[in-house]
Amino acid sequence: MGATLDWYGCATYRLTVDDTVIFLDAYIDRVPGAAGPQPPVVADDIDRCDWIVVGHSHFDHLWGAERIAANTGATIIGSHETVRVMESAGVPMRQLMPVAGGERVALADGLSVSIYPSLHSCVWSHKGMHPADEVCLGDLWLTHQERQARFAGLFDHIGSLGEATREHLRVSDQKPRGDGHSLVFLFDTPEGSLLYQDTSGHWSGIVRDLRPDVAIIAAAGRGNVDGEPIQGSLAQFVARQASLLRPQRVILSHHDDWLPGFSIDTDTAPIREELSRWLPRCELAEPGYLDGYPVFAGL
Ligand SMILES: [Zn+2]
Repeated sequence: MGATLDWYGCATYRLTVDDTVIFLDAYIDRVPGAAGPQPPVVADDIDRCDWIVVGHSHFDHLWGAERIAANTGATIIGSHETVRVMESAGVPMRQLMPVAGGERVALADGLSVSIYPSLHSCVWSHKGMHPADEVCLGDLWLTHQERQARFAGLFDHIGSLGEATREHLRVSDQKPRGDGHSLVFLFDTPEGSLLYQDTSGHWSGIVRDLRPDVAIIAAAGRGNVDGEPIQGSLAQFVARQASLLRPQRVILSHHDDWLPGFSIDTDTAPIREELSRWLPRCELAEPGYLDGYPVFAGL
């Protein structure tokens, strides 16, 4: 049987390669009314998992990993901050593998994952999400302190979205110190290679040397290119990154309406159009929730 991907909404996927089950991020529980699998699935429903890779420490990526690890015995691979947060949540160190980029971890026979440093989207630069074809300019050369001040304003905004959202933010708050450093993961499987990214940012000098067969590219918010916000649209960020990676197939993450009032149900047509312009032979696949999508089929 070939490798399959099941989308749990937001940036969370389950990757199954033969007998090995890997969660890519672990945010499964949603605020009521959010997009996601129907009927809703929660982290406690996951009864089989060997590994969890976490792109960064924000709640919409990490929250849930502590329960999946407890219920399945899975090992969590993530930044030192992700590991610190998970240890405080009760996950034993023997189930935690801190990484920073530059490692290759053996997952099973013939299956490994290489980890690379990456960047978070410029989430400080906006409140709600912009449509994928909206060109955003400016916000350049701000200091870290100026960005932090703007980011605090964003949380005030999300906190104003109503009681259910406030409660969701309260229970999911594991008190990470920032994003804890973003990572991307490159899986090497017997069928082909798969890149996983969970937030729209990259270092050009790193991604341009990776050559995945299939790339999961995050499509949410203002793209981060080498530390500064993209001068352009989200669709252009995705297409630009694809043109550096040159995969045969692109799959999106983080593009559904996972936190209504902040996120949007992203129209992917502009991304498809931009991608066909930058990388004409690359296919954009759009698996639905829990589709069991065959990652490498037909390549
Ligand atoms: Zn984040």
